[in-house]
Amino acid sequence: MSQQISSDIVSRITRVLGKPTTPIQLHEPEFRGNEWNYLKECLDTGWVSTVGKFVDRFEKNLSEATQTKFAVAAVNGTAALQVAFRVVGVEQNDEVLMPALTFIATANAASYLGAIPHFVDVDRKTLGVDPSKLEQHLGKIAELKNRQCFNRNTGRRIKALAVMHTFGHPADLDRILEICNRYSLELVEDAAEALGSEYNGKHVGQHGRIATLSFNGNKVVTTGGGGALITNDGTLAARAKHLTTTAREKHTWEFRHDEIGYNFRMPNINAALGCAQLEKLPQFLNEKRALAKRYVEAFADCKVAKAINQPSNSKSNFWFNAIEVTNSTLELRDQILADTNKAGFATRPVWVLMHHLVMYKDNPRADLTVSEQLERSIINLPSSPVLGRALT
Ligand SMILES: *Cc1c(COP(=O)(O)O)cnc(C)c1O
Repeated sequence: MSQQISSDIVSRITRVLGKPTTPIQLHEPEFRGNEWNYLKECLDTGWVSTVGKFVDRFEKNLSEATQTKFAVAAVNGTAALQVAFRVVGVEQNDEVLMPALTFIATANAASYLGAIPHFVDVDRKTLGVDPSKLEQHLGKIAELKNRQCFNRNTGRRIKALAVMHTFGHPADLDRILEICNRYSLELVEDAAEALGSEYNGKHVGQHGRIATLSFNGNKVVTTGGGGALITNDGTLAARAKHLTTTAREKHTWEFRHDEIGYNFRMPNINAALGCAQLEKLPQFLNEKRALAKRYVEAFADCKVAKAINQPSNSKSNFWFNAIEVTNSTLELRDQILADTNKAGFATRPVWVLMHHLVMYKDNPRADLTVSEQLERSIINLPSSPVLGRALT
């Protein structure tokens, strides 16, 4: 039985990608634009480190690409998220609501500030925070005192909600923001996977007071390693820039710092790579969307699995394509993973849920039924832009 399911899935992936001669990776970076030129310029001029024109240019290009007023480059997406939580006011012992279905960075970034991740469930269609279940959960556990939200069970303040746009599919931001406003929660968007994704015609990252991006090697565009904060709030942007650059006061020669900041600056050499990569973003997005369309078609009449499509009202960047296996178990999932990898397709499961990890097993949490089903049933498929090239 599981053998049959597995071979059906392998044959449908083969229909899209062809029979591999060498293994097809999950997400490969591609450097066929101005990367060499810009990197050479860094080396030739000596500007390789934490100051240089490419950092400013990358920030400007990023705010254009995301339709936001401000972008602050950072050393990676996790660091950016830590600063995002800090600038919206998350403090030690605060709780931060976030999906259990996310990459570890979301939870760790809150923990670095001494805050406590509090896990909520996701919606099966968006794979992001489920507003209805969030509302139900808050109705049970939250109370407002002096316009601040508290967890009745723990007595701790709940300061913020982080949404994560899973695989680039935007969460249901309008409804989530409405709930945040009602409960006095700061909304932060972990948009690490969602560069280029739109919700109701607007680039993601603008419902939250601040949002973060990642430019790790497997993201849609890469700087080697890197991240950024994006926001329309000038005060938050200035605060984020100050904190990520050691909180140094502006002065020609004096080193005076007015608080304990971080060295979270993105080096110029990484920003140079990012500038070249961003030039290719529109092309990468076209190719990724064309590939996603093909996966959806190939699985349209499949009884054992379906390709996860973008939510209505959204345009996903389809960072990672995924299928959801019907009524899956961990055993079935692992069988499919083994068989697809053996056939030359690099597939992988979704992250182990946060409350299944030793560090977070006792954290506060809501009912997580959907996340737990998805943990057993999601399989990511090869998603590099090059795979969609011939389809555009
Ligand atoms: C990639 C990613 C990050 C940031 O990762 P870094 O490697 O630190 O850049 C954060 N959140 C999510 C959901 C991610 O996928």
